[in-house]
Amino acid sequence: MFACKNQLLIWPSFIFNCSLQLFYLMFNFNTHEYYMKEALKEAYEAFTKDEVPVGAVIVCNNRIIARAHNLTEQLTDVTAHAEMQAFTAASNYTGNKYLDECTLYVTLEPCVMCAGAAYWTQISKIVFGAFDHKKGFTLINKNILHPKTELITGILQNECGELLKRYFKEKRT
Ligand SMILES: [Zn+2]
Repeated sequence: MFACKNQLLIWPSFIFNCSLQLFYLMFNFNTHEYYMKEALKEAYEAFTKDEVPVGAVIVCNNRIIARAHNLTEQLTDVTAHAEMQAFTAASNYTGNKYLDECTLYVTLEPCVMCAGAAYWTQISKIVFGAFDHKKGFTLINKNILHPKTELITGILQNECGELLKRYFKEKRT
């Protein structure tokens, strides 16, 4: 009798826990997609300025504290990648040169320079969209990142990649 009663209690709590886990997973996934869409808005902004369309946002405590896009043409500066702009803006905002509580969302895999800059910021997490099969830092060495930096790849990679393909296609014609 008691055993039956216990079993009746165990099942709802098991289902509740599973639902919680599922909700957590979905929430995390959606969060990455949500912030990557914000980074994509920046990439579109770059596109309209005839810049290579790469966008980035930096998130701290579920809040976007920096938004940036590639500005190499406008600034005539090969180092003006979206990530570099975003690191500077985020540090200006927080007043802290380290971004160890923050996450960088960027539409394209960072290059070696930006991965190196990310190392110096000690950023907590990097989430990128499309892989850069020519100049991505993972082609050289994933250990360029700070040991504390978690890496998540491929979020909205098709959308991020398509915009770049469209840009280079239009450039050729
Ligand atoms: Zn870069």
